[in-house]
Amino acid sequence: MTDNPEDPLDQADIATLAIRAGHRRTHEGEHGEAIFTTSSYVFPSAAEAAARFAGDAPGNVYSRYTNPTVRLFQERIAALEGGEAAVATASGMAAILSTCMALLSAGDHLVCARSVFGTTTVLFNKYLRKFGVDTTFVDTTDYAAWERAITPATRVLFLETPSNPICEVVDIARLAELARAHNCLLIVDNCFCTPALQQPLALGADLVIHSATKYLDGQGRCVGGVVVGSAEHMDEVTGFLRSAGPTMSPFNAWVFLKGLETLRLRMDAHSAGAMTIAEWLSARPAIEKVYYAGLPSHPGHALARRQQRAFGGVLSFQVKGDRDAAWRFIDATRLMSLTANLGDAKTTIVHPATTTHSRLSEQDKQRAQITDNLIRVAVGLEATADLITDLQRGIDAL
Ligand SMILES: *Cc1c(COP(=O)(O)O)cnc(C)c1O
Repeated sequence: MTDNPEDPLDQADIATLAIRAGHRRTHEGEHGEAIFTTSSYVFPSAAEAAARFAGDAPGNVYSRYTNPTVRLFQERIAALEGGEAAVATASGMAAILSTCMALLSAGDHLVCARSVFGTTTVLFNKYLRKFGVDTTFVDTTDYAAWERAITPATRVLFLETPSNPICEVVDIARLAELARAHNCLLIVDNCFCTPALQQPLALGADLVIHSATKYLDGQGRCVGGVVVGSAEHMDEVTGFLRSAGPTMSPFNAWVFLKGLETLRLRMDAHSAGAMTIAEWLSARPAIEKVYYAGLPSHPGHALARRQQRAFGGVLSFQVKGDRDAAWRFIDATRLMSLTANLGDAKTTIVHPATTTHSRLSEQDKQRAQITDNLIRVAVGLEATADLITDLQRGIDAL
């Protein structure tokens, strides 16, 4: 049992933790979480100031180090992911960068899934490489390739699951085992599922990273990121943040806290809408193929059932035809937003080959199955019937 049997959040469900974890009211007794818009803090005495600066006493010093609203967001995410601690950052990319800067040194090596977020690839390929950290990219679900790519210098395995845009599902437990056998850390970018649908730490991952910009906010309002893991690793990341500065603003932390309150409901609704739409698209003769792990025909379906609570809000599909057909489809929709973002209440539609994945070489596009007739939809929270009406406009334009 527990150290503190009185804690009503002990053993609580994700839905409860997402609403209540980490909140401590101030002397004002506020019900909603307070936003502490302050850059610095006042010390009660010179001795206390000295102790805090020396790290001998807890307490706030400066908001690049700690801020009560940001700390609450960190504690809530740590509770949701089942991690010891979390560190919030200015963006999802800042979370990935800060983790790498804190935990890697020149000469270290990373193995990364080929299908990760495009900017992550640029960060690893262009910037980490400049500082002597090399990355080998492997086909996401080729486990032998992951193992072959590991060298004595490998410190980190990095992946996203389900992948973007074709929803490949990676076996987190299997890669966690591989990471352990080679003394590496497994880092999972859990942006697409969020802890409401998938908890990588429970499956053996060492660190979880989020772009809070996406589903954690859920309404497209703020940019932010967070990393979750052991207290020891999070101390290292915090140390980097204090020195380098890509911290989360308290206002953004507050917006994310509001987003989290509906996380479980939203993820269930995104997933239900995506499932209905994936089935509807699958039955349309004008559609060549639908990629969604919720479909029993998807190669990752059984695995997704095991490691996810539901299948998430992102799906993609190939229209019969070429790039022009895909563009005609997209241009014929009237309700969906033509934008590369996802994780919003508003449904988005995009042509990966010429936008989010346009930087890939032809060979890499082929490998990742990003064909010219592929369209990605991140299903929002509008009525599914209205979204289907909109998709029918696309089909009529083919
Ligand atoms: C958007 C995104 C990121 C980057 O996050 P930002 O908040 O935009 O910096 C990283 N990983 C995934 C999977 C994303 O979708």
